[in-house]
Amino acid sequence: MRRDLVLIAIGFEGPENTLIDQFGLERDRRSNVKAEYGKYRTNVDKVFAAGDMRRGQSLVVWAINEGREAAREVDRYLMGSTMLP
Ligand SMILES: Cc1cc2nc3c(=O)[nH]c(=O)nc-3n(C[C@H](O)[C@H](O)[C@H](O)COP(=O)(O)OP(=O)(O)OC[C@H]3O[C@@H](n4cnc5c(N)ncnc54)[C@H](O)[C@@H]3O)c2cc1C
Repeated sequence: MRRDLVLIAIGFEGPENTLIDQFGLERDRRSNVKAEYGKYRTNVDKVFAAGDMRRGQSLVVWAINEGREAAREVDRYLMGSTMLP
């Protein structure tokens, strides 16, 4: 009996385009959403980006770190100051 085996080895291809295009978000050289680490603000007002979408394929610890920091920056944006770490 013939058994074909197919191995698919596709690396992370970057974030999906749909929302990025609809919001008109600027991208970096690697096609991730452009937003400064620690600030997370994109070129569009009220739109923040963090995690793999911002830094590219990475580790879950970075996603957690950026998610927490982005929440802090959103709080700062909304309230004018923040007590979040
Ligand atoms: C196969 C694989 C193995 C990995 N193994 C490890 C590992 O061993 N250790 C490690 O540290 N990291 C690992 N990683 C990386 C880790 O999973 C990611 O870095 C982390 O999950 C990124 O978190 P994130 O919140 O930025 O994005 P994601 O976890 O990708 O979360 C994005 C979320 O947004 C949702 N979403 C997307 N589009 C829309 C939309 N239009 N509307 C609403 N929701 C939407 C998605 O469904 C998803 O739930 C692995 C990744 C992959 C792909």
